[in-house]
Amino acid sequence: MAVPDLPIQPRTFNQFASDNYAGVCPEAWQAMEEANHGFVSSYGDDLWTERACESIRQLFETDCQVFFVFNGTAANSLALAALCRSYHSVICHDLAHVETDECGAPEFFSNGTKILHIQGQEGKLDLSEVERAITRRSDIHYPRPRVLSLTQATEVGTVYTPDEIRTASELASRYGLKVQVDGARFANAVVSLDLSPADITWRAGVDVLCLGGAKNGMAVGEAVVFFDRELASEFEYRCKQAGQLASKMRFISAPWIGMLKGGAWLKNARHANDCAALLERELAEIIGVRIMYPRQANSVFVEMPEVSVNRLRAAGWHFYSFIGSGGARFMCSWQTTREDVFQLAEAVRTACGGDRN
Ligand SMILES: *Cc1c(COP(=O)(O)O)cnc(C)c1O
Repeated sequence: MAVPDLPIQPRTFNQFASDNYAGVCPEAWQAMEEANHGFVSSYGDDLWTERACESIRQLFETDCQVFFVFNGTAANSLALAALCRSYHSVICHDLAHVETDECGAPEFFSNGTKILHIQGQEGKLDLSEVERAITRRSDIHYPRPRVLSLTQATEVGTVYTPDEIRTASELASRYGLKVQVDGARFANAVVSLDLSPADITWRAGVDVLCLGGAKNGMAVGEAVVFFDRELASEFEYRCKQAGQLASKMRFISAPWIGMLKGGAWLKNARHANDCAALLERELAEIIGVRIMYPRQANSVFVEMPEVSVNRLRAAGWHFYSFIGSGGARFMCSWQTTREDVFQLAEAVRTACGGDRN
């Protein structure tokens, strides 16, 4: 039976659902194209991968150990598994991707390490809650806390300041915990804080960073960056066993060179953050809309009447609904345009019935 030759997607697809709805940015695409010549050794034993690791070392101004995997779930899960034994636990926020969106992969890859999730305002860990989770018990019946996991930028689009990270790391190290950062949107945090990547990672006490590529504009792939090289011991075996060792590794690694050398990594994040800032300004004017969190990265979370949310969906807009009824998440990417932002704002205005005076 012939497959009908219809367009896969309508030409206008009105969405602020996620930054992974966007395509591949030109810089990443071109790097894949450049890597697509002749024969190259497989499984990461190639010059593209060597140079990509070197680019990441330069970015972080330190001799870190770098691995490339297919996605963020694998990056987080394997990094956490490398830091833990099966009877350990990982402390993270209630809303953390590792807790809510990885289908138990961290527990699976670590053979049973337990995730302990705690609360905190604006998507950030409340450190007194962290300390309580660490010190609550010390007997052998409680899974021993071993890692503190932070998300930067957070799941609700806020960012941790270097002081907050340092304070969290100091608390962790006081009790012998390592610090892992889920950086699916790390570039957005770097732009937001206007600081060097080193200042908000190893200089602030972070041991391992899962550095996002896909949401920033790459086709596929995230980097696992170990600032403490000893923690990376035998990590390559975990990647292979988990089915995360790409045989044509150069197509995951080469885009990192393309993204970092001309600054596309930051340019993309800055663009996405700027679009979200513009959207926030527009939405704040609309009656019935409440901005839920400080907008510090590339997303805007709003509360609006359920009827308005339904109208917006009926008008063809795609977005995720978040905490509670009526909450909506609008996520911007490197590909979002100012025109898209104005169109969404206009649609929200119509769905809500007007501006504030
Ligand atoms: C998207 C995302 C990830 C990675 O998810 P994958 O779909 O597995 O690539 C990790 N952490 C956060 C906070 C994310 O938003």
